Amino acid sequence: MFDNLTDKLDKAMHVLKGHGSITEVNVADTLKEIRRALVDADVNYKIAKEFTATAKEKAIGQGVLTTLKPGQLLTKIVKDELTELMGGSVEGMNLSGNPSIILMSGLQGSGKTTFSGKLANYLKTKKSKKPLLVACDIYRPAAIDQLHVVGEQIGVEVFSNRDEKDPVKISEAAIAYAKQNGFNAVIIDTAGRLAIDEQMMKEIADVHAAVKPHETLFVVDSMTGQDAVNTAKAFNERLNFDGVVLTKLDGDTRGGAALSIKSVVDKPIKFIGTGEKMEAIDVFYPERMADRILGMGDVVSLVERAQEQFDEEEARKLSKKIAKNQFGFDDFLSQIQQIKKMGNMKDLMGMIPGAGKMLKDVDIDDDAFKGIEAIIHSMTIEERTQPQVINGSRKKRIAAGSGTSVTEVNQLLKQFDQMSKMMKMMQGGKGKAMMQAMSK
Ligand code: GDP
Repeated sequence: MFDNLTDKLDKAMHVLKGHGSITEVNVADTLKEIRRALVDADVNYKIAKEFTATAKEKAIGQGVLTTLKPGQLLTKIVKDELTELMGGSVEGMNLSGNPSIILMSGLQGSGKTTFSGKLANYLKTKKSKKPLLVACDIYRPAAIDQLHVVGEQIGVEVFSNRDEKDPVKISEAAIAYAKQNGFNAVIIDTAGRLAIDEQMMKEIADVHAAVKPHETLFVVDSMTGQDAVNTAKAFNERLNFDGVVLTKLDGDTRGGAALSIKSVVDKPIKFIGTGEKMEAIDVFYPERMADRILGMGDVVSLVERAQEQFDEEEARKLSKKIAKNQFGFDDFLSQIQQIKKMGNMKDLMGMIPGAGKMLKDVDIDDDAFKGIEAIIHSMTIEERTQPQVINGSRKKRIAAGSGTSVTEVNQLLKQFDQMSKMMKMMQGGKGKAMMQAMSK
């Protein structure tokens, strides 16, 4: 996500970081580099220019020239500006109404159907709602099928009527059905076209006028750069939508859309899509995104993801095992599984301050643990619970069985040993002392 932009901004600001004497000239140069980085990332030129003009004013106002750490101060100014550019404070979603009616709009291929499913799943699992998905694409039967597939995947009912050719009637029937059957959220997936066209606009505007949604979301593919901004403008003029959903942020996007949409249509980005899976949805937090763009990581999101996966019962069992010195490879394996559930590895790494930059060229994929898992799977139950029995010949057998080498097996055994010792120390109330030792 935003690798290129992060890299360029880092280079631009690096000049100031190590500089002994800061002059107005090198602050101006740095800001010029920042502007160039933004334009390269597909941010509208006018917005980029305003961005650096404001940053410059703030830099002078806050005394960048006289501070001891100009790089740090400028980074903070740029971060605040980026946050502001992407929308400032976090906006929630309007879920009032029973049912709450959510209308999805956007071009074909933007990820509207996928996102409708993600949102239904999010409302069901995170907001304890009972959502109903509505297929309103009267032109492409395949689109209706696609929504049914998605609905089945997440266990959410899909309302459709292949004989009805008026999307207003379908939506109204769906809402009536929802009321009769206790659904408290209705997500209407509308037809999209490959480009803006009047008939499509009229159609969705009619649905909008008829169902009066509590929340109208505009879905846009972040890979489309400046086009995304133009499409957003056109949809906003007709629908006056409430928020934007940026999809495909997991791809190689240059990020310009994320940075420009808010200031062009003055509507907040509410969600982002970061993959094809139903779980790949995130609430959009401008400040956290600014941190990530500046390579400062996103520890808050990382901790939240960890908390979501945290199972108190499991943790209690684990801590008992550690206390009794019974922590084995099976427990190690289940820890790995928990980490994997937190999401895509590269995405997680990007949330660790500084790590994103360091690991940018390293190919981390979800198979990162494959070797480790294979080694553990090749161990006998005895070896997993009592790793000390693993001698030379056992190591050879494990390596052969897992398609790895004895060196890799040794490495894992060593890591496991270190980890067990560390856990023991943390358990024994020495955690604080250890943390202090580590931070020195
Ligand atoms: P629609 O025509 O707007 O309904 O778009 P679809 O939901 O059918 O999505 C178009 C394509 O984009 C599909 O292949 C999806 O799997 C893919 N897609 C949707 N959202 C994301 C995302 O956040 N990341 C990635 N990588 N692909 C996505």
